[in-house]
Amino acid sequence: MVYLDHAATTPLHPRAREAMLPFLSERFGNPSGLYRAGQEAQRAVDAARVAVAASLGARPSEVIFTSGGTESINAALLGIAYAMRRAGAGYHVITTAIEHHAGLHAAQHLEELGFDVTYLGCDATGKVSLSEFEAALRPETVLASVMLANNEVGTVQPVAELAGLIREFARRRSHRVLLHTDAVQAPGWLELDVSALGVDALSLSSHKFGGPKGSGVLVLRRATPFLPLLHGGGQEMQKRAGTENVAGIVGTAVALEAAAGGIVERVARVGALRRRLRDGILRAIPEAIVHGSEAAGLPNNLNISFEGIESDALVAALDRRDIAASSGSACSNSMWEPSHVLVAMGVPIRRAVASLRFSLGEGTTEADIDAVLAVLPEELATLRSAAATAAD
Ligand code: PLP
Repeated sequence: MVYLDHAATTPLHPRAREAMLPFLSERFGNPSGLYRAGQEAQRAVDAARVAVAASLGARPSEVIFTSGGTESINAALLGIAYAMRRAGAGYHVITTAIEHHAGLHAAQHLEELGFDVTYLGCDATGKVSLSEFEAALRPETVLASVMLANNEVGTVQPVAELAGLIREFARRRSHRVLLHTDAVQAPGWLELDVSALGVDALSLSSHKFGGPKGSGVLVLRRATPFLPLLHGGGQEMQKRAGTENVAGIVGTAVALEAAAGGIVERVARVGALRRRLRDGILRAIPEAIVHGSEAAGLPNNLNISFEGIESDALVAALDRRDIAASSGSACSNSMWEPSHVLVAMGVPIRRAVASLRFSLGEGTTEADIDAVLAVLPEELATLRSAAATAAD
């Protein structure tokens, strides 16, 4: 299979798998156990926390292991917003219209609970405007959540600049606004350092960077107001109750270290493959349009739309040729739902439902790209002529 859907999930890194295996078999102790097997598991979790913190420029005490990106994002938005409102600090939250549904739906849930939420738009490249962000800050604002890199089009947001605007606002008004970023798509492609980004909270999902599914990280910087989502035992420094997913945590740390290494070389190599794919498609199908930002985009993401097809049909056609890619549209109740990200970027609906996302990975080769270029024009032509016949 030619696998070009790394933004959806990545294969488990062999070193992560190897590190996890003992914790799925003989080293099965519960880290809360006071006997040796428990303490051995606790030491593995502690070591993973130290490694993840080092990868992200955080302190170990700021790293919380979760069940994935969705949980981390929900915990950050709800946990910080609840804590700030309880402290009487305010009830306004700023986010963007192009967040992953984990962020968007958590923000909508905050609205149901009486918070006021501003959803910032973006320009045609998917970038959020600094001046609109600054204008949205109010005395009641307690939290802003802006994703670092978009999962559909790869556009990278100026999160460090947003943090600077918040600091300036906070200084003038003596009022605290916390900043969270969904950095789920960033590991392996962008250098990640929570201090350089200036964020108070950052979410990661292990299966997007060679770790296991159902594991994630929430970095909560020291002194970030937070009320836990999950109540129960005292695990994760009282911030996330529940017996630790020891194997998942161990795999997360190993995969994150692997992703954080060799970024410059990976970006250059995979970026060149992306350009090969983009240029090859545009040569064969000149009316195709690339969505996203060439200047500030993830090097592994190519979102491209065509005329006169539905993307799910093209995904299915490519699948029959053993190529895995993803469509931006979702079919629910037989209605085509265009991607909310492409719509926010001003892409016309007929284009938005005809877009494909190719997301490359560490293991992608020139042969993979050439395999797509060899079949895509033909599959597109077949779908178009079928659509034309149906319309006659
Ligand atoms: N945020 C972004 C940007 C994502 O791409 C995803 C996964 O698709 C998530 C959040 C959710 O992560 P998880 O699958 O770990 O719940």
